[in-house]
Amino acid sequence: MSASSELMTRRQTAVARGVANITSVFANYADNAELWDVDGKRYIDFAVGIAVNNTGHNHPKVRAAVEAQLQRFSHTCFHVAPYEGYVALAEKLNKLVPGESAKKTMLATTGAEAVENAIKIARAHTGRPGVVAFRGGFHGRTLMGMSLTGKVNPYKAGFGPFPGEIYHAAFPNNYHGVTEQDAVHDLNELFKSDIDPQRVAAVIIEPVQGEGGFNIAPPSFLKALRAVCDQFGILLIADEIQTGFARTGRLFAIEHSGIEADLITMAKGIAGGFPISAVTGKADVMDAAEPGGLGGTYAGSPIGCAAALAVLEVIEDEALCKRAYEIGNRFKKRLKSLQEDRPELIGNMRALGSMVAVELVQNGDPNQPAADLTKAIVAKAQKHGLIILPCGTRGNVIRFLPPLTISDSLIEKGLSIFETCIFELEA
Ligand code: PMP
Repeated sequence: MSASSELMTRRQTAVARGVANITSVFANYADNAELWDVDGKRYIDFAVGIAVNNTGHNHPKVRAAVEAQLQRFSHTCFHVAPYEGYVALAEKLNKLVPGESAKKTMLATTGAEAVENAIKIARAHTGRPGVVAFRGGFHGRTLMGMSLTGKVNPYKAGFGPFPGEIYHAAFPNNYHGVTEQDAVHDLNELFKSDIDPQRVAAVIIEPVQGEGGFNIAPPSFLKALRAVCDQFGILLIADEIQTGFARTGRLFAIEHSGIEADLITMAKGIAGGFPISAVTGKADVMDAAEPGGLGGTYAGSPIGCAAALAVLEVIEDEALCKRAYEIGNRFKKRLKSLQEDRPELIGNMRALGSMVAVELVQNGDPNQPAADLTKAIVAKAQKHGLIILPCGTRGNVIRFLPPLTISDSLIEKGLSIFETCIFELEA
């Protein structure tokens, strides 16, 4: 029995069923865009821990920053004995988050926690209860996070009741016949039929839906949303947890639209694998919560702060925003020619920078999702040494999230494996 199979057997017995595994690759060691399992098998990693290691696994500068921090202290709790790393990261994010307004920041640990805090702050600032999110969106697995998430299975099934005053509107999706105008209309209908906009504290949106299938909100839609929010005094929250930190070719995806959000949630790519998250927003909004209302024991851990500051430096030094476009273009070129060969299967290919996905269908029909084939491709890719992830509300999207530090030759090798998987499964 291989070491991986043995571990999988132990895992089946010891770990709760609800904690799913997308692959059965038990990690032993990882370096930049490659990962080796406990049996010594090597994989090209097009997942990087779900859009986390944008600067690659184990970036030497990030590792050095963490090691240096560990030499000093690992934890004091910012509420007990504050430290410079927290303040320095807040200062940096306040500068980097787009928009003219003065900004302030709070740090937490996970993405879901950042979302929870953004909603708390929005409610405290507006004195209103309502929150509007989007169908197909994903905002985490905590009570508020899953309530905002616009997909029942598997995220909400069996976990109710959910908090009140949360509503979902249509997310634009041209491929599935929802135009931008339809989406704006749907939001206005919601305000007529379900909740008075004067009772809405915030609208929360992913500029590109991550788990929902890499659906890109057109910049003009985000502008329209900004206008609706301004009209009714509603705060606009951009959930940049998956889109953030150079992934889409800009530090934040919202920069593609030129709008300023009132609050931005960040996690994942912020610290190259160290658990830290942030909410940055307009200073007066951020200051709405009373002292003691925000925070937590591990919130803004010194190790996470050190890692995040190093990641931000690497993004700048290695020009990773620019590199995200180059990588995205390389993926697009190969995937486009695959789509031309297989139009009945690759129904849609979409990309914003290095956030690239293909939607797999049967008979070229958007309404016939090829979910089983998608699963089979992910499994076959693992056999051939490539880690890719599925996503999408119909389970038929394959997303590509290479580190932004990957070499061209590994991209080409990974894509060749992906093509081989399709050919083998269709043969
Ligand atoms: N928001 C978005 C857009 C996400 O992609 C995720 C994670 N996939 C979350 C929130 C939740 O983050 P975490 O898993 O760190 O709680």
